[in-house]
Amino acid sequence: MRLGQKSLEKNSPNKPNVMKASALLCPACCVEYVEVEFDLEVDGFILHNVNALRCPACEEELFTPQQYETIRKRTKDSTEH
Ligand SMILES: [Zn+2]
Repeated sequence: MRLGQKSLEKNSPNKPNVMKASALLCPACCVEYVEVEFDLEVDGFILHNVNALRCPACEEELFTPQQYETIRKRTKDSTEH
């Protein structure tokens, strides 16, 4: 028998608050991403000091929407010169 979402909610009134507002967990490792800074190459351009999130366990990198937007803007600036 499968556990439905509805019964799960009913049976756990005190659900643990796992999700912190600013913390993202790697879905594979359930480990909190840490913020890293590195040089990123995009279409032959090197962007220095790019911020990203990296899982310390599997080293998978992830950009937040804000970080991604910054990269896009900087890439656009580079290509226009
Ligand atoms: Zn991971």
